[in-house]
Amino acid sequence: MARPLVVVAETAFGELSQATLECVEEARELADSVASSVHVLLPGLFPDADVEVMTGELAAHGADRVTVIEHTALAQFTADGWLAALAPILQAAKPDFTLAPDSGYGRAWLPRLSARWRIPMSTACIRVKVTEEGYPEVFRVSHNGKLHERQIWAQGTAVMVMLWPGVRGVGPGQAGRRADVEVIRPDLDASSFRDRTLRTLPPDPHDVDLSEAERIVSGGLGVGGPEGMAQLQHLADALTASLGGTRVVADRGWLAADRFIGTTGKIVTPKLYLALGISGAGQHVAGMTGSETVIAINTDRTSPLLKIADLGVIGDLHQIVPILIEKLRERAKVAPAGSGGAKSPPIPPPLSPPGPVIPFRKAHDDASEPDGMPSTARQVRQ
Ligand SMILES: Cc1cc2nc3c(=O)[nH]c(=O)nc-3n(C[C@H](O)[C@H](O)[C@H](O)COP(=O)(O)OP(=O)(O)OC[C@H]3O[C@@H](n4cnc5c(N)ncnc54)[C@H](O)[C@@H]3O)c2cc1C
Repeated sequence: MARPLVVVAETAFGELSQATLECVEEARELADSVASSVHVLLPGLFPDADVEVMTGELAAHGADRVTVIEHTALAQFTADGWLAALAPILQAAKPDFTLAPDSGYGRAWLPRLSARWRIPMSTACIRVKVTEEGYPEVFRVSHNGKLHERQIWAQGTAVMVMLWPGVRGVGPGQAGRRADVEVIRPDLDASSFRDRTLRTLPPDPHDVDLSEAERIVSGGLGVGGPEGMAQLQHLADALTASLGGTRVVADRGWLAADRFIGTTGKIVTPKLYLALGISGAGQHVAGMTGSETVIAINTDRTSPLLKIADLGVIGDLHQIVPILIEKLRERAKVAPAGSGGAKSPPIPPPLSPPGPVIPFRKAHDDASEPDGMPSTARQVRQ
């Protein structure tokens, strides 16, 4: 059997990120194709109950083994802390593939390990495979989604991969699937970490990455102009949702360029996708088919989006949206405090002041390369 594929898991407010589960599912698919297994590393500091829920979830989505790496110094993310905690485990596991979400965390620590060990690393990946000849194969996007790139690495090369959140969506998981779970407590010295997280803020729907958004209000050309989009923003606020739209709306400047959905934009998997004045062109639909519930409002009963919506409303959005906003605001007024609305995770207090700054190389770097870790190999771009 091939060496296991390793996934580095991320959590926020006591829950695994969707991007982590996507990495686990991607690794599972690859592991099945090369008769390998999936080993998930879960760094942090969690109550026992949360660990049980999270390891169960990781198993359901494809993990064979979960190593929980616990330490008070890992209670909040720090790049130095993750490097110190994870490098020895990765060094021992020597995985052919290390997968992590392409997130702020991943981009803060993984490139440093890649550089230190001279292992190739790819960001913005959308697919990971092994060719028939046994070469690691990575598909990634660049140039704002306009260019798709295929990388094939020399056989035996270890590869680090950051998977683009939202690109594959998260499946239902397999109930009853089990993983071997171990909890380890490494010896870490937080005073040697040069970075620290002061506090983690709950995501603001206004600027949360759409691929992580739970609710999306999305507008198309039917909104009629920037004023129409501004009205949708009010609706999104009333629903604690994020605002998105179609590419043509972004092209016209009614919506920020990083907030359109589709094959050349964001791939989204929200619980609720409310589509207003959107026809449902294939390029748009490809970006939102992973939505749990789709509600579409359109004047044209033949519009393709109405056909795939769970609830279709045939009508003028300019008449419907103000009523919706009013009703939602009324409901928010009568709802007792703490009921309904978005769950706001607690904001942890700031950490105590950091210890002295230790030069990184002195603090962590092992000048010698890990045994068996291959150095940079041939890269073929096609
Ligand atoms: C190479 C390429 C890549 C592309 N990539 C993407 C992509 O990633 N994402 C993307 O979104 N598009 C993409 N497109 C564009 C895509 O083909 C469509 O043109 C676009 O999605 C249509 O946007 P729309 O639904 O907002 O507009 P339209 O197709 O014009 O639809 C407007 C809808 O609003 C309805 N409407 C009008 N007035 C009202 C009203 N008052 N109330 C309710 N409904 C109303 C109409 O009936 C209509 O159905 C791409 C195109 C190309 C060529």
